[in-house]
Amino acid sequence: MSRIKQFRHWVDIIVEDLVSMKVDKHVVNGGMAASGPIHIGKTRGELFIQAAVVRGLKKKGADVEHLLVVYTQDPLKAKPPLVTTEFAKKWKGVRILDVPCPEGCCSNWVEHWMKPFYEVLDDFGIENLKIIETSEIYKSREMVEAVKLIVEKRKKAREVLGRFKGAKYPEDWIPFKPLCPKCHNIATTKAVSIDLEAEKAEFTCPRCGASGKVDLTQGKLEWRLEWAALWQVLNVTFEPYGKDHAVVGGSRDSCVAIAREVLGIEPPKGLAYEWVYVNGKAMSSSGGISFDFNEWPKVAKPQVLKYWYYSAKPMTHLDFSPLKIPQLSDEYDKAERVYFGIEKVKEPKIEENMKRSYEIANNEEPPKEMPIQIPYKFAAMLAQIIPEKEGFGRQAAEKLIKTGHIKEIPSEEGLKQIESILRRAGYWVRKYAPPHLRITILEKLPQDIANKLDEKEKEFLRILGEKIGERKWTPDELEAEIYRLAREVVEIGSKKAFRAAYKVLLGRDSGPRLAPFILTLDEKFVIKRFRELT
Ligand SMILES: [Zn+2]
Ligand SMILES: [Zn+2]
Repeated sequence: MSRIKQFRHWVDIIVEDLVSMKVDKHVVNGGMAASGPIHIGKTRGELFIQAAVVRGLKKKGADVEHLLVVYTQDPLKAKPPLVTTEFAKKWKGVRILDVPCPEGCCSNWVEHWMKPFYEVLDDFGIENLKIIETSEIYKSREMVEAVKLIVEKRKKAREVLGRFKGAKYPEDWIPFKPLCPKCHNIATTKAVSIDLEAEKAEFTCPRCGASGKVDLTQGKLEWRLEWAALWQVLNVTFEPYGKDHAVVGGSRDSCVAIAREVLGIEPPKGLAYEWVYVNGKAMSSSGGISFDFNEWPKVAKPQVLKYWYYSAKPMTHLDFSPLKIPQLSDEYDKAERVYFGIEKVKEPKIEENMKRSYEIANNEEPPKEMPIQIPYKFAAMLAQIIPEKEGFGRQAAEKLIKTGHIKEIPSEEGLKQIESILRRAGYWVRKYAPPHLRITILEKLPQDIANKLDEKEKEFLRILGEKIGERKWTPDELEAEIYRLAREVVEIGSKKAFRAAYKVLLGRDSGPRLAPFILTLDEKFVIKRFRELT
């Protein structure tokens, strides 16, 4: 596909920049704190930017590794409502790898939150991701050497960090927190001294009163130093960072200074990204404000989330709400139509961005043929009419032909696509949709509803019932006919007419767009319902 010259997608710009670096191998890294549920916001700059860049580098023939560091050597900081007050108190400061599963369903805290995340990586097309836990990294020879170097040069480290905000340390500071072998405290232990020769730290633990010596593999560096040490040990060449780290003189800058002045390495290239918000609040695992990553494939195609992230620049403020799922899904479908040349966009740059983002969201390998599309809210309605059972895809396809969404019964693959769209929209409507989108068809017409209709309303419904049975309708034709009957034939006005129809079908005053809604219902049922009143 030909591209407009001046347009370059931000992912491609990063890739080109990295290609120009003189390194034998690229290591593209992200980080996950296993502090609570892994929400979709975390994946923007710690998983998906990386995945796109890795693919881009591979396309350019570069040797590249995609890493995800999971911070398992951190102390527990969780608070209610994520955990109970007792749980928070009991395990506060303990290394999360040693904290039990909060719900008793897996072997520990880390597994409890990371397992659901790992389970959907395939769905999101994340492959060849190397996951490393910091607890493992600390056991490596390279990390022990880095710890020793930093401890040795701690005066320099203190001076470097002292130039930055929020990083003032006492003169006798030892930037290493031993892991208490008795109670697994890693928050308030104190390193009394360090024997670099023997590679041991002498410690005291105020939590349980223990003291003694531990190996340098048993503990952790102050987090800024840890971050820089990980760059060195893992040979990271690219790692994005959240905007909280991005301010001038902020933590990213301090880590860069540590890398250069203490470790003597060139820091990786970085990229600041903006958090994702939920209903206006920043997503936060430990605070329990989250839309879980593994929830996404249940409500929408994984590509929809990826497209949302890739089509916006990394520092664009994105606000998520489960109510936005239909809109995001429809926006993705639009990009798909644009990609397949079915729809045009006025602004060429926007069109190019949509197409390129669509390719990236599809791992650079978009489908050969355009997949079946159903507008999300329409699918949500359909999902409430057609029960999810054997052959419901075909049943839906028949209705979609009537409503003009598809032309013919699709192949097996197409039927599967329909089923998957309906399954997701159905899940969404049951769990997240506002009440006005939730519908229940009245199997029987309650007498009180029938009694409340006046003669004009009954007449309108009776004639509409007759008309429906007379011929095949498209949604637009039927809609025009409804208006014509209401205004010109029965003369009750469209508002009253629509209300009457919704009343006898749903028992309420309003509902989904009437004409396509009627066409998705069983025709005999509708005719009988409209005509049983008179
Ligand atoms: Zn569990
Ligand atoms: Zn202890």
